[in-house]
Amino acid sequence: MNTEKTYTLADLKVWDYPGTALAVIGKPIKHSLSPIMQNAALEQLSLNDNRFKEWAYFRFEIDPEDLSEALEFFYQKRFLGLNLTVPHKVMALGLLKTISNSAKAIGAVNTLKWTASGYEGFNTDGYGMSKGIEQGLGKGLNENHVLILGAGGAARAAVVECLSQKAASIRILNRSKDRLDAMLSSLSELKGYESIIPIEAKEDLADLPEMGICINATSLGLNQNDPLPLDMAFLTPQWAVYDMVYNPQKTQLFIEAKKLGCAAKTGLGMLVHQGAQALEIWTEQKIDAQIMHNAGENTLYNQAN
Ligand code: NDP
Repeated sequence: MNTEKTYTLADLKVWDYPGTALAVIGKPIKHSLSPIMQNAALEQLSLNDNRFKEWAYFRFEIDPEDLSEALEFFYQKRFLGLNLTVPHKVMALGLLKTISNSAKAIGAVNTLKWTASGYEGFNTDGYGMSKGIEQGLGKGLNENHVLILGAGGAARAAVVECLSQKAASIRILNRSKDRLDAMLSSLSELKGYESIIPIEAKEDLADLPEMGICINATSLGLNQNDPLPLDMAFLTPQWAVYDMVYNPQKTQLFIEAKKLGCAAKTGLGMLVHQGAQALEIWTEQKIDAQIMHNAGENTLYNQAN
């Protein structure tokens, strides 16, 4: 078996890897850093514990319409752990019997663990983001004002994490009002909901506090020619900027934030920590996130050079 290959549903149906298999599934998936990072962490674990020598993490490209059938095969073939990425995180929720409270609150799962009664669903994105922000920006969400750009799956995880960490206020700006409204109504039962301030019109940004943490949870920045997700004139140098986009490593938002004098970081740290927590769920071992970080950073460097 080759952990660099992209496997398909047809490969899954005849899967015969004898060891413990883990996988990330999504579409597109070719450029995911997860196999490189997770296999580096497994190799490290196997130095002290022989059991992990036969563990391996693979990648599968699965269409959304095939998700239900694919999950049945992954379960039958006893894949111990799965990471779900675009576009499966929300859809999978309806296919699981057991879901952690935080994943339920977020309305999306990114981590599944095989159990005798079916896959159990978790969401480690909020944890990953909070660690990425703490380590990357040197400050935490607690008692800070936060501005979240976006209202998709990643933004939901960000809002729930900000609520649980008691951010001072949570402003949310999204291109489409419908998606923002849907997100607000699904979060309305959560503790601290009153600290959420939807930004309905651009002019509302003029009332931003003097400092805070701005989090980009839109997909803008993945392409070099994308427009900025925010007019930088609304921020002061006292704001810190966390861009969830991690490839390219220097997004336009990151570059503009630095020019303004803001602390800024892109999303590799988040990716690493959401992955490290997923691996802890599967292995029940403490994971060295730095090993994963180095593996991810080297790959990004090699891609860029
Ligand atoms: P979704 O598809 O669920 O959400 C996408 C969001 O981006 C929506 O709010 C959408 O707004 C907004 N958006 C898309 N195109 C535009 C545009 N042209 N102008 C303005 N807004 C736009 O994606 P996810 O929430 O899953 O992911 C969002 C980003 O976060 C991605 O870049 C992803 O790579 C990153 N991410 C990073 C992780 C990490 O570990 N670093 C983990 C998870 C995600 P609208 O509602 O108007 O369509």
